Amino acid sequence: MQDSNNSNITQPINNSNNVTNGPTIIQTDVGAKDGQDKCPKCGSTDIAINTNSGKLRCNFCRHEFEPQKVVGMATDINQLQGQVIGSGAQDIVADTKDIVTFKCSSCGAEVVVDTASSTQARCHWCRNTLSVNQQIPNGSIPDVVLPFSISKDVAKTEIEKFVGKRKFFAHPKFRQEFTTENIMGVYLPYMLVDANAHVNLVGNGEHLTRTYYLGSGENRKTYYDADLYHVEREFDLVIQGLTVESSADKLNNSSSSATNNVINAIMPFDLENCVKFNANYLKGYTSEKRDTNIDQLRPLVDKQSKDIAKFAANDTLKNYDRGVAWSNEQLDVKGQQWKAAYLPVWLYSYLQVSGENKVLHYVAVNARTKETMGSVPIHIPKLLGISFLVEILGVLAMLFINFDYNWAFLLAGFIYFFVMFARYRNSNARHKYETETKTNITNLRKIDNFIKTETGLTNSKINGANNTSISGQGLGNQLLNSLVDQNSVASLVRDVTNQKGGE
Ligand SMILES: [Zn+2]
Ligand SMILES: [Zn+2]
Repeated sequence: MQDSNNSNITQPINNSNNVTNGPTIIQTDVGAKDGQDKCPKCGSTDIAINTNSGKLRCNFCRHEFEPQKVVGMATDINQLQGQVIGSGAQDIVADTKDIVTFKCSSCGAEVVVDTASSTQARCHWCRNTLSVNQQIPNGSIPDVVLPFSISKDVAKTEIEKFVGKRKFFAHPKFRQEFTTENIMGVYLPYMLVDANAHVNLVGNGEHLTRTYYLGSGENRKTYYDADLYHVEREFDLVIQGLTVESSADKLNNSSSSATNNVINAIMPFDLENCVKFNANYLKGYTSEKRDTNIDQLRPLVDKQSKDIAKFAANDTLKNYDRGVAWSNEQLDVKGQQWKAAYLPVWLYSYLQVSGENKVLHYVAVNARTKETMGSVPIHIPKLLGISFLVEILGVLAMLFINFDYNWAFLLAGFIYFFVMFARYRNSNARHKYETETKTNITNLRKIDNFIKTETGLTNSKINGANNTSISGQGLGNQLLNSLVDQNSVASLVRDVTNQKGGE
């Protein structure tokens, strides 16, 4: 490694320290009015989304509104400097009351809106709708909202299709109780982050030149020859719309009591169609208010930004088919912009109770793209039974089929069990932020210096290959996830066996 002269261009890994000036707050609720929000054509306050267009429509005269975009936030992210924060993304003030009381401008009655669960209420006396549109520092009013554009019927069909493909091993109680009648349209809270960054990556890459085999029979081994290069990539990077959950509950993707990763997995959303917040977009839907602040989300955003930067460079590394081992990964964030958003999700939820274990299973539909992911409760005895049959077939196959690796048949039942378990629970499903977030590279500087030819390598990848691994939801976390799941399998199996014993 020739990294002696790198110290002057690289800085410590913590990339948020570079932005030291106080944040710039952009007021995003300019012109927002609380109280009655009237149709300009007929004066009605009964305004809601037309899901066919995603636009607001007067339910009385059918007048359709042109969506309002948020003004003032940066759109040229490559010019962004310092921290810019939408006023809806500011820190939550702990003692802010959720209850807002209005005097109805039509009849003078007092109308109460509980902003913890809603931003509108109807006046009991004159039936006019009263809205909260001005931001209050309790996390209930975001900067932007992405309106529902998938109807409840379409979402029902998607959920039924998803569950329909997972009926065989589904728990009988679940099969009996499953109905999409009570699915809910929910606006869930997210932070949308844009970044203007400078990236510097230094490491080694290997290009494969020959694959060959030596020895025979049991001793036959694979060897590789490769060209080793010193590799550097330095570039300016724009990241747009990195999306993270901003409710503490949903951030816990490895929870063993709720299948939150399912909701994470239906991203990305078409964020370019976000509009300025207006309470009428929420009519007929529920919303969950944000309960985390930027500082709490920053470590996750920093890690994910680094992963995104590393993956953005992979397009320029195609020659290194044995991978690249970066020894220095540097991301300097020059500008970063945060917006609070409500994004639309259709949710089916099912609480599975098994002994003392309670698991909340979700099937979630992205209410813009129809992307669907879910978790279906498994009938463990049936899955164990069928896996056992598969195992017996595997053992028979091992005895009767002559094949070098026929011992692998011994694993057949176990593999079947875990493949089916994964297909129903989808515990590894997640949003692939590292490749699905919008990026743009400019001012790319490449160094590819041949070091030497290597022969007789036994690994199929370069030692320490890390250009396709992530840290923001890293391998450790995934491993933890799978362990948690195996534990819950183990405890479910234990429960079942105990119940059997008691019968
Ligand atoms: Zn109207
Ligand atoms: Zn009234």
